[in-house]
Amino acid sequence: MRATLQVLTDELRRLKAAGVKTVPVSESALESLRRVVRARVPQVVAEVSAHPARVAEPVAAAPAPVTAPVRSAPRDAGKPSLLEQYVQAGERGAPAPVVPVAKAKPSHSGPALPPSPELTLPAGDKATQWAWLRERVLGDRVCTAQVREGKKVVFGVGSLDAQIMFIGEAPGADEEVQGEPFVGPAGQLLTKMIQAMGVGRDQVYIGNILNWRPQLPVGADGVQYGNREPTPEEMEYCLPFLRAQIEVVKPAVIVALGATAAKGLLGVQAFRTVTEARSRWHDYLGRPVRVTYHPSYLLRKSSESKLAERKAKRAAWEDFLLVMERAGLSISEKQRGYFL
Ligand code: URA
Repeated sequence: MRATLQVLTDELRRLKAAGVKTVPVSESALESLRRVVRARVPQVVAEVSAHPARVAEPVAAAPAPVTAPVRSAPRDAGKPSLLEQYVQAGERGAPAPVVPVAKAKPSHSGPALPPSPELTLPAGDKATQWAWLRERVLGDRVCTAQVREGKKVVFGVGSLDAQIMFIGEAPGADEEVQGEPFVGPAGQLLTKMIQAMGVGRDQVYIGNILNWRPQLPVGADGVQYGNREPTPEEMEYCLPFLRAQIEVVKPAVIVALGATAAKGLLGVQAFRTVTEARSRWHDYLGRPVRVTYHPSYLLRKSSESKLAERKAKRAAWEDFLLVMERAGLSISEKQRGYFL
């Protein structure tokens, strides 16, 4: 229960950092929350009861107060809100619901950056060039200035002979800690989908348009909650690093994960919606590019309903099948039928 409330607290903080001012919650959910709190921390009940439109943080390891007001409001056609799912899960002693990895709308002009660097790869084999490039990026003064203390610049990982290169938009909280792309919840889903293709994560190459987690103001506890999209200037600064990785690896196919990655690669004018972008092959540096949904989008669909999850995963899987064909991978009948 403590863990559930901690996750709830984190989610409220994340929403607040993303600029969300109110969270709709029904009277019955508020009542359930009061029951949970009453059972755990009696002194907080008075506060919740006295200020029903405001949720004080009742439990866990003394986190900072959440000030985003939580208002009573009508629910969406019978669908429990995220807060209600937490409360109900907590009452059942069940694990907390999966938190969709939502992105904040761009709310930040981003840092002023110098012109993007000009790179010339050294002579040598792929491993030599890649190691040089990695050092260059990890030591880049602009990149290192963007990461907070104790966090890392994130460079691509995987096989230098990969036929398939996946490109996301930017590292998130887990990635800036580990210094590796796609290791958080979205990354774990991506890894499963790569494995469903019949290849290992270490047989493909995974990178991002941006090499640092785009910064937002931190809370009073020194932690940044939420993510934002990279600005066009940030993407432009890092693009030479990605181009050089493509030049080293020479993948047969590139997969752009989500609209931001696709726009970073192909340009903002290249398409209007991901649905439209998914309908055809694109080209980047003479290599075919397939645009598909970002795994965070698939996670958000999972939290909506089983049907929404299956439809979105099937659509993404159809993109993966096209990528497999283009990369010359064999496809079994079983694989063709995934998520149907
Ligand atoms: N989302 C991305 O676009 N890239 C990551 O590395 C992680 C999450």
